[in-house]
Amino acid sequence: QSRLLAKYLSLEPTEAVILTERERAYLDAAPAIRVAYDAQGAPLEYLNSETGTMAGFSALLLSRLSRRTGLKFTFLPASSYAQARKLLIRNEADVMCGFETDYDWMARWEVRSTRPYASLPMATVTNPAGRDEIVVAEDYLGGFWASRLTAGHSTVKTATAGEALQRVVLGRSRTTFLNAYAAGYLLRDTPYDGFTTMAVPGYVRELSLGLSPEAPNELLGILDKGLGSLSPMEVNDFLVDSLAASEPMTLKNFIAKNPLSAILYLGLVLGAAVVALLAIMWYRGQTLRNMRERLYVDPLTRRWTGQRFRMEAEKLFQNDPDGHFTIVYLDILEFKYINDAHGYDQGDRVLRAISEHLTENLAPGEMSARLMADHFVLLLLGDQASSEGRVYSLWRGLKDISWMSHYSMSFNAGLYLRQPGETDLAAMLDRANYARSAAKRTMPNLVVSYNESFRESIRRDKEVEAIMRTSLLQGEFVPYFQPKVDMATGRMVGAEALVRWVRPGQEPLLPDRFIPLFEKNGFIVDLDFHIYEQVCAHLSQWLIAASPVVPIACNFSRLHIRDRHFCGRLEGIAAQYDVSPQYLELEITESVAMENIDLLVALMRRLQRGGFSIAIDDFGAGYSSLGLLQRLPANILKLDRSFVDAITHRTDRVIIEGVVNIAHKLQMNVVCEGVETREQAEVLRSVNCRLAQGYYYSRPLEAADFARYMMEFAERPG
Ligand code: C2E
Ligand code: CA
Ligand code: CA
Repeated sequence: QSRLLAKYLSLEPTEAVILTERERAYLDAAPAIRVAYDAQGAPLEYLNSETGTMAGFSALLLSRLSRRTGLKFTFLPASSYAQARKLLIRNEADVMCGFETDYDWMARWEVRSTRPYASLPMATVTNPAGRDEIVVAEDYLGGFWASRLTAGHSTVKTATAGEALQRVVLGRSRTTFLNAYAAGYLLRDTPYDGFTTMAVPGYVRELSLGLSPEAPNELLGILDKGLGSLSPMEVNDFLVDSLAASEPMTLKNFIAKNPLSAILYLGLVLGAAVVALLAIMWYRGQTLRNMRERLYVDPLTRRWTGQRFRMEAEKLFQNDPDGHFTIVYLDILEFKYINDAHGYDQGDRVLRAISEHLTENLAPGEMSARLMADHFVLLLLGDQASSEGRVYSLWRGLKDISWMSHYSMSFNAGLYLRQPGETDLAAMLDRANYARSAAKRTMPNLVVSYNESFRESIRRDKEVEAIMRTSLLQGEFVPYFQPKVDMATGRMVGAEALVRWVRPGQEPLLPDRFIPLFEKNGFIVDLDFHIYEQVCAHLSQWLIAASPVVPIACNFSRLHIRDRHFCGRLEGIAAQYDVSPQYLELEITESVAMENIDLLVALMRRLQRGGFSIAIDDFGAGYSSLGLLQRLPANILKLDRSFVDAITHRTDRVIIEGVVNIAHKLQMNVVCEGVETREQAEVLRSVNCRLAQGYYYSRPLEAADFARYMMEFAERPG
């Protein structure tokens, strides 16, 4: 409701709070407003035991609100959030702060709320040694999130977030949810080696003021207007200040050991990062002035941060409700390659130059910022068509900087034309980014504009997301098997499992239709394990039937790489089906190595100790490097289809021969993918490549067909 109000009555933040006559009359006669708060809600709000007064973010906010509106507050400490809510419904308090909208509950008790004044990203804190159980504070997780996040797990409730966290720390429960800000604060004295903290994507806790059933409408009006007069910058300042005022600086350890950066990145894009950003700067021991500056100034480029961009853009949208603006989301492709090849200093220099170039070539009224890493955002005046041209010419201009031409770089950009009246930058950025990811799938140096067809494909994505989990449970995702053949003998030496989505009464769906989406929303992790488990189930049957059986390769997304239980889970499933890991190969794409080679090498070693073979998939599709290859302890190298396409040229043949020989020297088997003709097979054999996979030998086969194929063509042992 408050969002709608803000939108249609366009209550812009202005310092002045303009009251109606009735509101003014109420204010003149009003007694002090009783405000309930959670005395243990540090650092958001708490009872400072030394002074006996309320402290924290809410205290600062309310004091400013009092100055703006003329309202007088008295504060009532409650022992928990739930307790504060009780004071509210019993009319023992007029207002409560830090209130989270929960419409069912509000309707039941006739409680109302103001517009939200802060959004805090939510995080999970997990103790891997804890008992398999989720613990939540009574007041957390309004209905929707509760069911989504705890489905299928046993759950216990505690009165406060602090107690919930306590259970996790003691190992009595495994996971709890709380806002990232509080997570840092509460864990400050805990030896939490091995704990993990992760942002819950999309879950942001919005705080507002709750009003008791008997609070007069005038009070709601005044509070709402007062909050509306606070600018995002002021609210950010309160967060900074309250963080500085709360307790000693022991957050340090916490952040040193926990990957809060996940929260940071998520937040930057969503524009809700303030809190996490602060926590990280806090750890770095920044002074207050510095901290505030870093909120708005990107330390690398000395230009705007995403946060600042958002605030300025939203100001612009409000001042010019019908203006034509285009939001551009720009991504430099394979930037990691520049870092790898030239070092981080050079990488930074290039990013600075790009940022410089973009900003200098803006027209008055336009703006730009670096969102994260090599992602930039622009706001251009004008419509999509003219902006597309602008982006191309901006990029061309960049190539004209002579020292920059030394780096071969390409980019993708997505454009979104802001519609009249739209004010939500995060939503616009999302759409521009969506268009960008479509560009990424097609080709480098492409600008794609968001249009109606994207709306359609987003709708389709939503439909798919709505059914994917049920589909998985109903067994609609099944592996097909494509043989791998020894070209010299024509015998099958292995196979690759390739997922197909088989919906009743429809043609099997190919992975390129759904895997990109699943990689975005994380479902690929479950899907990979599911396919792997089915492969184990099939293998176990085939092994029992004592027919010749070949090793089967399963594909694993890059999203598994950081999972510390990955190897254990794979071993567990194989053991459950009584399949020895020697029958299992794991395919991991080469691009993973670009992200974090040390992590990957460690994981590969661990998997190999478990008896699995590892294949590097799609070698040659991206920026492959032979240097990289040398560092990876892989058993198998799979050459991408693009190699086969190139093979008719003599020079390319020389290159392939070189790669094959090096791989052989490194003790790797080489499999060539996508072999479609006899000529290709022959050339491949002439360059020493022995193994091949492709339509020429067989298309991917359904399990039953594959079992028959295996009977006929599999190499018999010995
Ligand atoms: P990939 O791992 O490179 O798999 C090979 C793809 O090439 C398969 O496409 C296969 O059907 C196709 N192919 C094989 N021989 C030929 C040929 O001679 N000519 C041509 N034009 N194509 C050939 P598919 O099944 O559509 O799979 C596409 C991609 O989806 C796979 O590429 C893999 O990256 C991914 N994928 C498939 N199943 C899974 C899975 O269970 N988990 C994950 N994470 N990814 C999967
Ligand atoms: Ca593969
Ligand atoms: Ca491949």
